[in-house]
Amino acid sequence: MEPQTKRWKGSECDTDSWVAYPVLSDEQSQDVELIEAFAAPIVNKKETSRLVRELSSHYPLNSLQHIKRVRAVKAKGSPHPLEVLVCLVSDAPDMTVVDIKSLLPSDKVKPEGLGEPFVVKVPARPPLTRPQFELASKHWPTSFHEDKQVTVALKGELFGPAQKSMMHTYMMSAVAAARAGHELGMEAVGAVVVDPVMERVIAVGHDCRGDHPLHHAVMVCIDLVAQSQGGGCYSFDKYPTCTFTAPTLATTENPPDSEGSSQPYICTRYDFYVTREPCVMCAMALVHSRVGRVFYGAASADGALGTKFKIHSQKDLNHRFEVYKGVLGEQCEDLSSLDQTKRNSLQEKR
Ligand SMILES: [Zn+2]
Repeated sequence: MEPQTKRWKGSECDTDSWVAYPVLSDEQSQDVELIEAFAAPIVNKKETSRLVRELSSHYPLNSLQHIKRVRAVKAKGSPHPLEVLVCLVSDAPDMTVVDIKSLLPSDKVKPEGLGEPFVVKVPARPPLTRPQFELASKHWPTSFHEDKQVTVALKGELFGPAQKSMMHTYMMSAVAAARAGHELGMEAVGAVVVDPVMERVIAVGHDCRGDHPLHHAVMVCIDLVAQSQGGGCYSFDKYPTCTFTAPTLATTENPPDSEGSSQPYICTRYDFYVTREPCVMCAMALVHSRVGRVFYGAASADGALGTKFKIHSQKDLNHRFEVYKGVLGEQCEDLSSLDQTKRNSLQEKR
C-alpha cells in the first residue's frame, strides 16, 4: 500500500523526522499569573443567586471577566457544595479581623448564607492557549476562548502530510543553498521564498557576507524578491545558487494587499524558509517586507524570532507574522556545525 506521506529515498527526506512548532508571543507562552482574592463558602445554596447579584454589584471584579464567580467544591465530604469569590485582596477594606462582616461592611451585601472568608489565588489574565487554560483552571474555574489553530499547532499537528511534504522540499532547497554558500566560504545559511498560494518558489539565496557584512541569507532573498518585481539593490550574478523567478500574471492580477500597485508589496503573503533563526536585522527586514510566515530549522543564540527576541509578535510594530521552528531541524543543525568546523580551522591557521 502506498504510504500516506510522500517519501523520497533516504532518511534525510523523511517528513516524519521533524515537527514544526509555533513560536508564540510572550503573552501566549508565559506562565499563568496569579492574584489573591477572598472567597467564601456558600453555606446556604438557596442564597446563591442573591449573593452573586449583590456581590457582583458591590465588588464587580471588572479586571477578572474571565473568572467564574462561583465554583463547585469537588472534595468529597465538604460541608458546602459551592464557593464564591468575594473580592480581590487589594480591593478589601482595612480589617483588624478578617471575617465576612468586615469584608461586607455596607448593607448592600447581606452576609446570610456565606461562611467565613479565606484567601485563594486566581488567574490574573485570560488564558490564551490550552496549556495556560489548563493551568489556570487548577486554581479557579476560568473561561477560555480557544484559538483552535494555536491548540493544534502546539501539538505539532497543524501541517498535514501533504503540506509537510511541500515544506520539506522548500527547506531542502534552503539547506542545499546553505551548502553552496558554504562551499564559497560563506556562513552555511540558506533561504527560500515561496508563494504558498501558487506553490511557487520566488527566490533562493544563501549567505553572501563575504562580499558585504549585511548580506545575510534573509537580506539576500528579500533583495532577490525585490528584483523579481523589477526592483532590488544588489547583484548576486556571480552566485549561481542565488536566483529569483518573476511572479506570473496569475499571481499579480489580484494581489490581496497591493495598496493600488499591480504587484504584492515585496514579500506580502509569501512564506520564508530559512535554515537558521534570523538575527534582529533580518527579522526587522522581514517585518518591513510584510512577510506572511517564516519557517526556520535551527534556533540561533542571537535569534530574533524566538530565542533572544520575538520580533514577529511585537505589538508596537505595524506588521506581525507567524513563525514556526523545527522544519528539518536536524539537517539545519548540521549546517551550524559546518560553520563551527570552519571557525575552528581558521583559528588553527592563525
Ligand atoms: Zn541576519
